[in-house]
Amino acid sequence: MEQANPAVVAPVLSGMVGQHFAREILQSSIARGVHAYLFVGPAGTGKLASAKAFAAALVCPFGGCGNCASCRDASLGIHPDITVFERQGAAISVDEAREIAFVAQRSPNASSRQVLILTDFHLVSGAAPALLKTIEEPPPTTVFIVVADSLPASLVTIASRCVTVPFHSIGVETITEALVGEGYERSLATSVAAASFGNIDRARLLVGDLGFRERQDHWRAVPHRLDGTGASVATTVAELLTDVEEIVVLVRARQQEELLEHEAVAKSSGDRRVFGLKAIEERHKREQRRVRTDELRSGLATLAGVYLSQLAAPLVPPRRMAALEDACCAIDEAAKFLSRNPNETLLLQSLFVRLGDLSA
Ligand SMILES: [Zn+2]
Repeated sequence: MEQANPAVVAPVLSGMVGQHFAREILQSSIARGVHAYLFVGPAGTGKLASAKAFAAALVCPFGGCGNCASCRDASLGIHPDITVFERQGAAISVDEAREIAFVAQRSPNASSRQVLILTDFHLVSGAAPALLKTIEEPPPTTVFIVVADSLPASLVTIASRCVTVPFHSIGVETITEALVGEGYERSLATSVAAASFGNIDRARLLVGDLGFRERQDHWRAVPHRLDGTGASVATTVAELLTDVEEIVVLVRARQQEELLEHEAVAKSSGDRRVFGLKAIEERHKREQRRVRTDELRSGLATLAGVYLSQLAAPLVPPRRMAALEDACCAIDEAAKFLSRNPNETLLLQSLFVRLGDLSA
């Protein structure tokens, strides 16, 4: 069997953006692996995509060539020796832990090893003890990739049995370069990267979204549209929220495609239902929620930029300067409040009433 050269990045790992350290660990693990890995880091840093790519490399006879039948099946999500577990309920249940333990004991079908990817593992809570032994001592042909956004106390013991692969938020420049490398125009790549908050998934969503620049323009126009009346506040907020809905529709369409893929996989393996359907639907809802919040946060950042650029202009009168600073503070407060799942309409309306007063 041909062994991978650790100095060269396996083609299947080449899509990992901005995670050089993680990629180095994985690259050097392809030839001489251990039985369990913990991919840990904030949402949107590409952990799951990297886990699937690494799994493809582990089952490929050529260390992740990206070309063979094994790599093709892996990229289609139908490789018999790669299993992705999605939890069914709010947390991973003891029953699910048993199922994982059962699958872990199986022998690989087509490759020399099988890979089990366990997603959302920060939500393992009560099932952690049931899984500890499985992850600690799997059969020599089973490899675990545990994926988690954070490391709660319930996960610490399991983490100590895994090689930790850390994922970090990705810098704006790194995302820009990645998008340019993928063939996008630099000015678009730069503004998309700035609006992505270090989230490569969001950047890839925005870069293919034709309405992105127009929505940014709508936020930039807000100060001119607020004339101190309630009506101007109400219509501006309503239009911005319609914009937000536009990107959620885009996300829903992608999710629908993903569901169809899952259904096709289930059909091809003779299953009547998609494994973990409830968890997938729940994840989709969370993704939609996150996209909404990110979109509003990005809009507020664009709006703050308008006031900040006025602040930076020469010879701003002191009263005007104080008003601009107040505007920036008010926007910042609203942005922070977004993480508390507020009523978006009320939040924006009360912000715009304040901004309207300031510009009056
Ligand atoms: Zn291959």
